[in-house]
Amino acid sequence: MILVCGGAGYIGSHMTAYLQERGKEVVVVDSLVMGHRESIKDTKLYVGDLCDSDFLGKVFSENPIEAVIDFAAFSLVGESMTAPLKYFGNNVGGTIALLETMLKHDVNKIVFSSTAAVYGKQEVIPIPETAATRPENPYGASKLMVEDILKWCDSCHGLKYSVLRYFNVAGAHPSGNIGEDHSPESHLIPIIAQAALNKREKVTIYGDDYLTPDGTCIRDYIHVMDLVEAHDLALGKLRQQNQSHTYNLGNGKGFSVKEVIETFEKVIGRTIPKEVANRRPGDPAVLIAGSEKAMTKLNWQPKYNSLETIISTAWNWHSKNPYGYARSVLNE
Ligand code: UDP
Repeated sequence: MILVCGGAGYIGSHMTAYLQERGKEVVVVDSLVMGHRESIKDTKLYVGDLCDSDFLGKVFSENPIEAVIDFAAFSLVGESMTAPLKYFGNNVGGTIALLETMLKHDVNKIVFSSTAAVYGKQEVIPIPETAATRPENPYGASKLMVEDILKWCDSCHGLKYSVLRYFNVAGAHPSGNIGEDHSPESHLIPIIAQAALNKREKVTIYGDDYLTPDGTCIRDYIHVMDLVEAHDLALGKLRQQNQSHTYNLGNGKGFSVKEVIETFEKVIGRTIPKEVANRRPGDPAVLIAGSEKAMTKLNWQPKYNSLETIISTAWNWHSKNPYGYARSVLNE
């Protein structure tokens, strides 16, 4: 059985669905602070906080857990700049409690969600896993601390990990029944969808004075289904080789904020109101992944690898569920 921590969140719920669609047994832990019960239907769910060791002990005692995939974290760059201790307390503290419980129960494999935010400003683009890490915000710093903790847990306890450094995750399950639903929303693609659905007046572009061709930030967008597939492959590799590794996950192509908005407009066939505002603190100008390691070592090949496809699946979810999961509850 696989424990998915944060399994009712955006990425976690897609992971849960992916594993279940392949007949794998899953148990989910989620605080439901960001997650949604409705996103995992009748999957076995324990509601609680990763920082609570007694709660975690109960989960491990009651289930034959063989490996852990950990998505449970706060993940907003902007918020982390205003509440750094919230990020260190939850993201680092929660993972330490999880690792302690794993060791106590002889579970020694974890796939851990890390982030491109561990890199910060880089000279070499696409960024390889070997690049020096220089996080520019507490979110990235909190993930890098956990990466370090994992290395020590491997050296001292033989715990084996796959650290997956995600670039910008977007899109939704092809069914359109699960997708991104944050409140308040802060990610670019769902924000454009909200403006397209008249749920917000306009899209605010955070800065057009970066050193990029059109002045707006460049990011590497990766589809959530491709991302969760990489987790499954990474876990398979861990079982097979019992070696810890760190992999980037991205498409290796960068799109500016303006290009993402233009592509969205093309997909839906109309324009979306937008305005340029100040930069958002903590945002590096360019983040593009070098993901050859995941492609060669894990045999990972992103399938939803055009920005149009990523945006189309996101739009399918948002237009079918303009109020996110709240709408499904109202319908029941
Ligand atoms: N962004 C923007 N307006 C928004 C939200 C995001 O211009 O309302 C920009 C943001 O500055 C960044 C990019 O879009 O350059 C992606 O931001 P997002 O929050 O989606 O992901 P992050 O890169 O922070 O993980």
